[in-house]
Amino acid sequence: MNERADRTAAYARERSFVRVAIDVPAAQLGASVFDYAIPDGWEASALVVGSWVVVPWGKARRIGLVVATKVQPEIDLARVRSIEGALDGAPLLPAAWLRLVEFAARYYHRGAGEVAMPAIPKLLRAIPAARSSEPRDPQKRARASAFDRARTRWPAPAAGGEPAERGGAAPGLSDAQRRVLDALLASDGFCVYLLHGVTGSGKTEVYLHWLAQVLARDADAQVLLLVPEIALTPQLHAQLAARFPQERVALLHSEMADAERAAHWLAVVEGRARVVLGTRLAVLAPLPSLAAIVVDEEHDASYKQQEGVRYSARDLAIVAASQRRIPIVLGSATPSLETWFAVRRGRYRSHALHERIGNAALPVVECVDLAGVKLRHSLAPRVVEAIDATLARGEQALVFVNRRGYAPVLSCGACGWLSRCTNCSAYRVLHRIGPSAQGAGPSAHGADGAPGRAGPSRYRLVCHHCAAEQSVPRACPDCGNVDLEALGRGTQRLEEALGDLFPRHRVARLDRDVARRRGAAQRVLDAAHAGDVDLLVGTQMLAKGHDFRRLALVVALDVDAGLYAADFRAPERLFATLMQVAGRAGRSGGDSRIIVQTRYPGHPLFAFLARHDYAGFADRQLSERRETGLPPYRHQAMLRAEAKRLAEALAFLDTARALASGRAAADEVSIFDAVPMSMSRLQGRERAQLLVESSRRASLHRFLADWIAAVRATAPRVTWQLDVDPLEI
Ligand code: ADP
Ligand code: ZN
Ligand code: ZN
Repeated sequence: MNERADRTAAYARERSFVRVAIDVPAAQLGASVFDYAIPDGWEASALVVGSWVVVPWGKARRIGLVVATKVQPEIDLARVRSIEGALDGAPLLPAAWLRLVEFAARYYHRGAGEVAMPAIPKLLRAIPAARSSEPRDPQKRARASAFDRARTRWPAPAAGGEPAERGGAAPGLSDAQRRVLDALLASDGFCVYLLHGVTGSGKTEVYLHWLAQVLARDADAQVLLLVPEIALTPQLHAQLAARFPQERVALLHSEMADAERAAHWLAVVEGRARVVLGTRLAVLAPLPSLAAIVVDEEHDASYKQQEGVRYSARDLAIVAASQRRIPIVLGSATPSLETWFAVRRGRYRSHALHERIGNAALPVVECVDLAGVKLRHSLAPRVVEAIDATLARGEQALVFVNRRGYAPVLSCGACGWLSRCTNCSAYRVLHRIGPSAQGAGPSAHGADGAPGRAGPSRYRLVCHHCAAEQSVPRACPDCGNVDLEALGRGTQRLEEALGDLFPRHRVARLDRDVARRRGAAQRVLDAAHAGDVDLLVGTQMLAKGHDFRRLALVVALDVDAGLYAADFRAPERLFATLMQVAGRAGRSGGDSRIIVQTRYPGHPLFAFLARHDYAGFADRQLSERRETGLPPYRHQAMLRAEAKRLAEALAFLDTARALASGRAAADEVSIFDAVPMSMSRLQGRERAQLLVESSRRASLHRFLADWIAAVRATAPRVTWQLDVDPLEI
């Protein structure tokens, strides 16, 4: 025994150890970082925090990041393995970034490697093919060249770029914008600002001026601008490039080609890019000299990652700002209730822009009661008349319906058969395939093969959840009835209907199906901006960010589900969506209007909407949430499980629940019953969930750390994960 202890001590004296984060499922393994020895013959100082290493992992090897040096290994020294190699040419990752990674790992109860590695572009974290045991071998030179390749792919900005005044054409700020900017500039250190500005109030312009000042004050400073959707990046990228001609603006989102993403990412890490624009994943980009952050449309649910580590990019951005003691601006016309709550509690500072630029009026809000009204193609006569009048004046109209495809379900009137998906608890949606039938007014019947009408081959049934596709049955699979009926309307069918109703006007559609074709979304938007389109039909995609100059009328259909949905956040989302889509209208002055078709015109949500009274709506929602004990007054986490059979998923959650109850009492945590998810079947898997919550965040997290370890120890055979601050309940 003694002899062995002596040997170990001698070994430990001779060796240095480092702690390495690896991308392995920490919740399953119980650890997220592992200790390795620095190999013989290496200078211990060769590895510092933020270095990249190749390490043995079982019989395989992994890329890892050094998160601590000079550590005392936590396991038996004799079992500590040695690092295989360093990665030549890899940039040192900033310690400030590792702090954010470690926070996220703790907060979301995942491993540091699970947070850090997916944030690194694929090309730069590929594992070298062969074993490499000393730093100078050819394998590592090959690796280095992967980094080098990424560095040349990033040309410097054109020498002597145009001066900002010409290139940027920055408009002078309005008095209201100037007041907000002055407030932002007065900040020193960490501060969260809410820029609460109505649509078209010039929030973007305030961001640009602010970021310009931050960059001008410090030659090393980097700034990060987050947007919720990839579709919003091209326009903003062009704006940033024009405004900062002496900079090259780095772009980070998930649809960039691998090589391009590696080049941009490396330029960010090495400080060569000072302006960084991206979607949620960009919050985990390692910016060594981050000096200011903007989160545009901060309320948008797209900031929440829905797979892997389920982080909120908005929340992590705030943490990053606090860790680095820098200011952050959250911008929105309809802030999330979490943000509004923080403002009301005095934790965030709110600055408002109440007026649109040029004093353009906000649209008039009109609710059309569907009770007793005979619809034409699902449109009330009042709506048809308003569109007609708008088009007659040479203005544009937009019809918003948050449902893509032709019709949400195909049904048999004879026996009640519905086009259910066999893999999911959902209906397969009828889609028209190929280009739209220009004004032909095809039959609504998917299975109708009559000449000149839409034949069965031109339609498909598609599941929006698992993407399963099938042809449209010629007859009801249950009773043989050939007269199947498409129920309800999606964007495609509305596009057709509007073509029928307004044959002399140009109709265009924008939704995810259109956007799937490369460049197609941009073509629709360009045509709309150029005035080549009179009537736009589309989903949320049309609601965000776009500035249509001639748009005077917005029509919103099928909104009622949001009023009475089971999800307590549904009204908040509906209000934000309606404000946003309404905000597309009347931006260049003149009268504008949004018409909402509803069966509940008296619902209080519409009264707030009519007054454009976000604050009133939000305060009322908050008081309801307080009374019912919901976020942001309470903090939630959801344990989800999926299995082949629902009983297995529920049994796992019941076990987890039993493990929780003993632990919860002391920690002021409530544990609910395990229940099937509202969409219990997805892609052939059955899903269930278990909600836990507490009015104190710290209590919840103390409980979670202990509970998740206990759950893991049962070695569950189902797939499970934890979602902290879930957005969907
Ligand atoms: P928001 O982001 O608040 O919806 P934008 O920043 O898109 O608003 O501004 C709306 C429009 O007003 C844009 O076309 C923008 O270029 C223009 N704009 C913003 N600020 C000014 C200003 N101070 N003077 C003139 N035009 C402005
Ligand atoms: Zn039938
Ligand atoms: Zn499906």
